Amino acid sequence: MPHTGHILHGRYAVVSCHVERPLDDEVWQRFSMLQERRPGGFAVAALMRPPAEGEDEARWLERARAASARAPFGLHTHWTAPDHARPTAGDPAALVREQGNWLESVGLRPTFFCGGGWYFDEEVAAAVADLGYADCTATAFRPGYLEPNAPHLQLDAPAWLELGDSRRLLEVPTTHSIGMLARGLLGPFRRQIVHAYRRRAAVLRFGLRFLALKRTATDLDELQRDLRPEKTMSFANSRA
Ligand SMILES: [Zn+2]
Repeated sequence: MPHTGHILHGRYAVVSCHVERPLDDEVWQRFSMLQERRPGGFAVAALMRPPAEGEDEARWLERARAASARAPFGLHTHWTAPDHARPTAGDPAALVREQGNWLESVGLRPTFFCGGGWYFDEEVAAAVADLGYADCTATAFRPGYLEPNAPHLQLDAPAWLELGDSRRLLEVPTTHSIGMLARGLLGPFRRQIVHAYRRRAAVLRFGLRFLALKRTATDLDELQRDLRPEKTMSFANSRA
């Protein structure tokens, strides 16, 4: 039976990469090659961590522009440090707004947000909605390293998140790591949208070819344009 709420009909897959060390030349070269090769036909979205204090902003911008010319581009915030993703103090939403405003000021237009360490709370969601992005911080799996009460959003399928004040946010959860695909953990395979992610470019290709056999390759920007989830949920009720 067709899902009349969707413009998309069929079963799709999208792929994103958390680009956490774009100033590491070797990492960047591998990632650039991956985006250019489009394994399995996938335009691999770059969810990039903005430069931290002391990192080379000019080189970062050059690389971010190159990535955003090749595939969908998103903001990946690490709150505490380049190698410490989740927040430990302060106002997590304020940093998201600051980074989003900075990206806009330098002419970059992210379309997605993904919180580092899968951190997500209602204020961060509102900041993402105000910036005009969609979100992919929710996960279909429970990250093993999270404490039981750690802020995180668990969702199986895309949904509209209602945030109050008539604001809503398109949520396209991350459903699989590439490692899960490589281990054959895709089945039972009922989801309309598989969104696979990777933190490192290596080992991606095998998993993506497998995924391409099973699903129609699309990308995060096409999903944002064409996906109309039937499910709407209030953020408070959707918290895992
Ligand atoms: Zn990260």
